[in-house]
Amino acid sequence: SNFIIAIDGFSSCGKSTVAKALAKSLNFVFVDSGAMYRAVTLYFMRNKIDCSDSAAVLQALDQIHIDFVPSTDRVQIFLNDEDVSEAIRKMEVSDNVSEVSAIKEVRKAMVAQQQALGKKRNIVMDGRDIGTTVFPDADLKIFMTANVDVRAERRYAELAAKGETVSMEEVKANLARRDHIDSTREESPLRQAEDAIILDNSNLNQSQQLDFVIDLYTQ
Ligand code: C5P
Repeated sequence: SNFIIAIDGFSSCGKSTVAKALAKSLNFVFVDSGAMYRAVTLYFMRNKIDCSDSAAVLQALDQIHIDFVPSTDRVQIFLNDEDVSEAIRKMEVSDNVSEVSAIKEVRKAMVAQQQALGKKRNIVMDGRDIGTTVFPDADLKIFMTANVDVRAERRYAELAAKGETVSMEEVKANLARRDHIDSTREESPLRQAEDAIILDNSNLNQSQQLDFVIDLYTQ
């Protein structure tokens, strides 16, 4: 049967970097579940959906179609046939994504799609609740953490490379806020699955992180 690797953890721990490299080296499908929540958030922002109006939320979810399209060395994400790979990484989306992700109806719809993606395929999925809610029976579960300064620096460098003008303070505040909302929400909060293995990558480079997970996989 198919093999599922769940990678969860705090914001900007480098989860998708490890997940991507792992999927490439094992020839698994990589799914960035955070990108799905970001795409929903972008739709909600553009269409001014009131998060507290569950009828409006359900109606909006009905209009949202998300696709992942692998291209050379990266995966593009499409929202209703529009490539939103860049748009979902903007700070304004990061500023709203945790509120949208805390909505029960949103989680229900995304979890169902994520579970469908994991049917009959070997996958690596990264997120916040993959090992606890989406795939509680995943074959391998990793929980990533890193020092908050290291995380903020990585995120800051990423945004700066894309030409976004944000300050280090804004980046730090956004990470802290998201971690707080993500870990305290009612519906499947961010937490470490009991059987997850911790990977603290504060002092590890990318190839050391990949080796760590590959070793667990081959054990
Ligand atoms: O992984 P990334 O930082 O892009 O995720 C953006 C946001 O999406 C998170 O801060 C969290 O609010 C939400 N998310 C979630 N559950 C997941 C993945 C992401 O709630 N499985």
